[in-house]
Amino acid sequence: MAPALVQAFVHDAPAQRVVFGAGSLARVRAEVERLNLCRVLIIATPGSGRDLGARVAEILGACACGVHAEAVMHVPRSVAEAGLAAVRQRAADGLIAAGGGSAIGLAKIIALDTGLPIVAVPTTYSGSEATPIWGISEGERKTTGRDAKVVPRSIIYDPDLTLALPPAVTAASAMNAMAHCVEGLWIPERTPASMAFATEAMRRFGVFLQPAVSNGGDREARAECLIAAWLSGTVLAVGTGLHHKLAHVLGGLGLPHAETHAIILPHVARFNLEGAPEARERLSEALASDHPASILREMLQSFPIPQRLRDIGLAREKIPDAADQVAALGIKDPRPVSAADVRQFLTAAY
Ligand code: NAD
Repeated sequence: MAPALVQAFVHDAPAQRVVFGAGSLARVRAEVERLNLCRVLIIATPGSGRDLGARVAEILGACACGVHAEAVMHVPRSVAEAGLAAVRQRAADGLIAAGGGSAIGLAKIIALDTGLPIVAVPTTYSGSEATPIWGISEGERKTTGRDAKVVPRSIIYDPDLTLALPPAVTAASAMNAMAHCVEGLWIPERTPASMAFATEAMRRFGVFLQPAVSNGGDREARAECLIAAWLSGTVLAVGTGLHHKLAHVLGGLGLPHAETHAIILPHVARFNLEGAPEARERLSEALASDHPASILREMLQSFPIPQRLRDIGLAREKIPDAADQVAALGIKDPRPVSAADVRQFLTAAY
C-alpha cells in the first residue's frame, strides 16, 4: 500500500508525436507521409486562417485535397455538419487542423465521427491539440466528451506561425492555458508528471508571456510560450475541476472561451488555493511570488483584453443560475464549493 502522505495516481497520457521548432511547418508533409495519408483536408478558421490553410496546402502538394476554412469557436452543430460534408465530398483520408482551438475543435468533431487521423498545427496557446477532449454546441448548450480518436497523432509547433498572433489573442489564449495548469495542480487526477509540466509551463508563461504580448515579434518569447502551451495542454488532458466546469457553464451562455477563462482565473485561484497548499507552493515558486492569485490578477489587468464578465456579455441575472449549476456538480476538491461561494466570485468577476 502507498504511504498515506503520497497520493496514489494513474498516469494515462495519450501517445503523440511532437515536432517543435522555428520553420517546422515545412515538415508537415513528412508527418502526413508517416501516417500513410494521401488525401488530407486542411481545417482552418476564416480570415488569416485561410491563408495559413493555403500555405499548408502548397507544402502538401498532391497530398492535400482542399482547404475548409469554416471553423467557428465552440463548433456549432451546423459547422460540424458542413465539415463532415466537406470530408465526404472530397473523400479525405486525414485532417490537418491549422490554427487555434477553433480549427482543432472542428477537426476533432470530424474525427469523432469518421475516425480520420489528425495532424495539428496550433497557432494559439489554448492547448486543445494535446487533449482527447471534444466539444460541440447547439443553442445555449455545449456538450463535451473525451475520446482517444480525436487526439491528434502529430503536433507541429512552429513558433514562426505565432509571430502575428494579435496581443489580445496571445494574452487570452495563454491565460486559458494557465488555467489548465493552475487547475491541474489541485485536481484529484494530478500526477507527479502533470504537476511538473504545470509548474514548468507556469514558470515559462510567468517570464515570457508579457514580452510576447507587448512585442509579438519576440522570437524567444514566442517559442517559450508555445512550449508552455504544449505542456499546459498535456495537463488539461489529465482532468478538470471547478474552474473549467464554471467556464463551461459560462461558455454555454455564449461567452467567449479564452476571455472567460482569463477573467475568472484569479477569482477561482484565490478561492481554491486556500485549500490547496501544494498547488499554492508550486505556483508561488513558478511565479516568484507568495501571492500567486494576485499575480494572476495583475497579469490579467496588464493585458489588452476584457477585464470583467459584464464586458463580454454576461447578464447579471444569469449569475445565480450559473452558480447553482456549478454547485450542483458537487465538486469537492480541493475544498467544497457552495452556490453562495460561486455567486460571490462570479459577482466579483462581473
Ligand atoms: P481561436 O482558435 O478561436 O482563435 C481566435 C482568433 O485568432 C481567430 O479569429 C483566429 O483566426 C485567430 N488566429 C489564430 N491563430 C492566429 C495567428 N497565429 N495569427 C493571427 N490570427 C490567429 O481561439 P482559441 O482560444 O485558440 O480557441 C478557442 C476554442 O478552443 C474554443 O472553442 C474552446 O472551446 C476550444 N478549446 C478546446 C480545448 C480542448 O481541449 N478541447 C482546449 C482549449 C480550448
